[in-house]
Amino acid sequence: MHKHIAVLAGDGIGPEITVQGLKVLEAVAQKYGHSFHCRHAPFGAGAYFSHGASFPEQTRLVCDEADAIIKGPVGLSVAQMELIPLPERPEKAAILPLRERYDTFANFRPIVLPAQLSCFSPLKQEVVGQGIDIMMIRELVGGIYFGEKIEGRETHNEYAKDICVYNYGDVNRIAHVAFKEAMRRNKRLANVHKANILATSRFWNSVVEEVKQEYPEVDYTSILVDNAAFQLIKNPTQFNGVMLLENMQGDILTDQAGGILGSLGLMPSACMGPDKGYVEPAHGSAPDIAGKNIANPYSMIGSVAFMLEKCFGLQQEADEIWQALAGILVAGFRTADLAHKGLSKKMILSTAGFGEKVVELIVKN
Ligand code: NAD
Repeated sequence: MHKHIAVLAGDGIGPEITVQGLKVLEAVAQKYGHSFHCRHAPFGAGAYFSHGASFPEQTRLVCDEADAIIKGPVGLSVAQMELIPLPERPEKAAILPLRERYDTFANFRPIVLPAQLSCFSPLKQEVVGQGIDIMMIRELVGGIYFGEKIEGRETHNEYAKDICVYNYGDVNRIAHVAFKEAMRRNKRLANVHKANILATSRFWNSVVEEVKQEYPEVDYTSILVDNAAFQLIKNPTQFNGVMLLENMQGDILTDQAGGILGSLGLMPSACMGPDKGYVEPAHGSAPDIAGKNIANPYSMIGSVAFMLEKCFGLQQEADEIWQALAGILVAGFRTADLAHKGLSKKMILSTAGFGEKVVELIVKN
């Protein structure tokens, strides 16, 4: 297979973890006879300072021409971000436009903690000891984040409004993605909503429940978002399977679920549109550890596995990466974010050391 990939390494730890992801991609390409042609392009806060825009026109063209996009985290420290005018900051001027441009409506975030690694979690062993395996699927281009924003002033008052809109097509397509994913997995799906308050949630549920009729084998439950937040901490394994979430509720709950894993460095993700997708670690640019060669590249290497699986249909190649990632951790190696007190120094891997171990396993197996 020959594919073109746009690489937007981003800010902070972005470049150093992206190098590891690309090393692993190259190892897979060599082993399976693929060729992946990567073109790097500026994106994020650094791009604003060097090119005057967080998502410069030249980067848009590189992305347009690519079959898939690898994106690193963007953003800098609070002080550096203040140097960028609000409308030019990467969230507004880079991430949302990227999603909009490729209509990447389906965000996949695996919350996976095998039983052998359940010690990473801040939750008690009796709660997570059996292992967690949830695929959170979040609608990514609709709802309140993309609705109209209004800031106004009346004679005696100021106000602000964020409009939340979902239409039939938006909900129908993400529901199909979620039910199909549930069918590939353990056939369980939990639909998260706030239908006791929000009209958009009641509408969301009516469409999801219509789609459900086409997937009679799926064991379907529906849960209010506040209860889902509580249950995720009390008994996360009850959600093993697929969780379906709208945009803002998904933004919050996916990060909460990440907390259960014990490190944001364990969170890859894929954002899929009708024609192409981009993959990215679900965390930020971690300016506190940038440039120290201690960031955990799992999230980026897992994102590369996701690209092979979701963008190119290369399941075997992706599985090989997933197995290598788990194998390294099960063998006792840790990056600094996962290391516990008293762990022997030789078991603590640098960012580059972790990437090299993944490559070694892929070459050897
Ligand atoms: P963050 O996710 O960057 O960091 C939170 C904590 O997690 C930090 O202690 C960091 O060191 C740690 N961490 C994150 N990724 C890690 C990894 N791979 N390995 C080890 N430790 C890791 O959140 P923040 O500090 O609030 O945000 C920093 C910047 O990132 C901000 O500018 C923010 O706007 C931006 N951000 C970008 C994205 C994105 O690009 N999608 C997402 C969230 C935040």
